[in-house]
Amino acid sequence: MDLRYSEEERAFADEVRAFVKAELDPAVRDRVLHHKRLGKEDYLSWHRKLAGRGWVAPNWPVANGGCGWNAVRRFIHEEVMAEEGAPPIVAFGINMIGPVLIAFGSDAQKQHYLPRILSGEDWWCQGFSEPGSGSDLASLRTKATLDGDHWVVNGQKTWTTLAQHADLIFCLVRTDATVKKQEGISMLLIDMNSPGITVRPIITIDGEHEVNEVFFDDVRVPRENIVGEPGKGWTYAKFLLSHERSGIARVGQAKREMRRLKAIATSELVDGVPLIETKAFREKIAALEIELMALEITNLRMIAAEKSGQAPGAEANMLKIKGSEVQQGLTELMMEAVGPYALPFDPDALEPGWNGEPIGPDYAAPLAGTYFNYRKVSIYGGSNEIQRNILSKSLLGL
Ligand SMILES: Cc1cc2nc3c(=O)[nH]c(=O)nc-3n(C[C@H](O)[C@H](O)[C@H](O)COP(=O)(O)OP(=O)(O)OC[C@H]3O[C@@H](n4cnc5c(N)ncnc54)[C@H](O)[C@@H]3O)c2cc1C
Repeated sequence: MDLRYSEEERAFADEVRAFVKAELDPAVRDRVLHHKRLGKEDYLSWHRKLAGRGWVAPNWPVANGGCGWNAVRRFIHEEVMAEEGAPPIVAFGINMIGPVLIAFGSDAQKQHYLPRILSGEDWWCQGFSEPGSGSDLASLRTKATLDGDHWVVNGQKTWTTLAQHADLIFCLVRTDATVKKQEGISMLLIDMNSPGITVRPIITIDGEHEVNEVFFDDVRVPRENIVGEPGKGWTYAKFLLSHERSGIARVGQAKREMRRLKAIATSELVDGVPLIETKAFREKIAALEIELMALEITNLRMIAAEKSGQAPGAEANMLKIKGSEVQQGLTELMMEAVGPYALPFDPDALEPGWNGEPIGPDYAAPLAGTYFNYRKVSIYGGSNEIQRNILSKSLLGL
């Protein structure tokens, strides 16, 4: 197994880096690097830049307007962009429903939706989880019944990320309650402006509006908006979730945040000595950096296997667990580094252009918010406990 990049791959990394440096709006870069609030337009403006370069859909086939890149190029593209402070590509269209439509959608659905996902015209959200149906997703109860040429949808989704921005939602619904629970689920594409849809914000512990509840009250959805066949939604959802997990290790982002942690620990002084030079804190940084290096190598090992034709296996679950632990570890050490200055909570300090009086160093203001927000990374996309269950079965045979 060769874990080194080829000359051509290194040249590609340089090309991506140069593109980000030249094209990314410095104000957006600043917001990403300093943990400020990102608005819809921040994501979309970068999405359009990538679309213009033909780089917005690394995982789609060329025939559908994607890049058709192999795993190595996809990894380089994502990691270099994150390291350089670009906002992530919003996953719901490009990484989730796009690949599902390419594999299972009707010709009409492909023709209508795929170009709009590429251009950024449609913002999608993911309607899977419900109260009581998260880890046990197959127990979901939102119901769709046929009435002439329409499905009539009733029920509730929850934790729906950025639904407040969304034009469309891809939704798992129960269309048959008489069969085994996985076999009675279908996937519908629903216009968020349909009468009967209500979006209610859930304000998270950091005071931010990132997730929502979505209610469906006799929502009429054209019959042709079903993906593939009725009762096959579970199969499509599993396919979609395998795409959701790609890139979940977030190595590029973690490297960027490691640099930030070291910069903060260099600025903070303890009895006149930079914190980074104190033994106890230095050891904590070193322990986390070793975890990050091991994560990167594991990620590269998986990519090398994929490049030589092997499908990613349960190792993807390992990346989810370790990746989230490293991300959380970074937020914990940054908060520890600034000590009491992490305590004052001023949501305005997250606004771009805020020029209020910071309490303590200006980098301290967003650290507690980020720390609290990042408790989510070990829950979404399948909680770490569920990932460990999968690993114990598939790798350890327990
Ligand atoms: C910030 C955020 C954004 C999200 N965005 C979306 C979104 O856009 N769309 C969407 O559909 N969903 C979204 N989710 C939902 C997410 O997928 C679920 O929260 C997740 O699957 C866990 O489900 P739950 O919250 O119902 O917890 P539960 O399933 O009730 O689990 C509660 C606890 O019990 C543990 N547990 C459960 N079952 C087992 C088991 N068998 N063995 C061991 N431990 C177990 C879990 O690990 C967890 O710690 C989001 C969640 C978060 C936090």
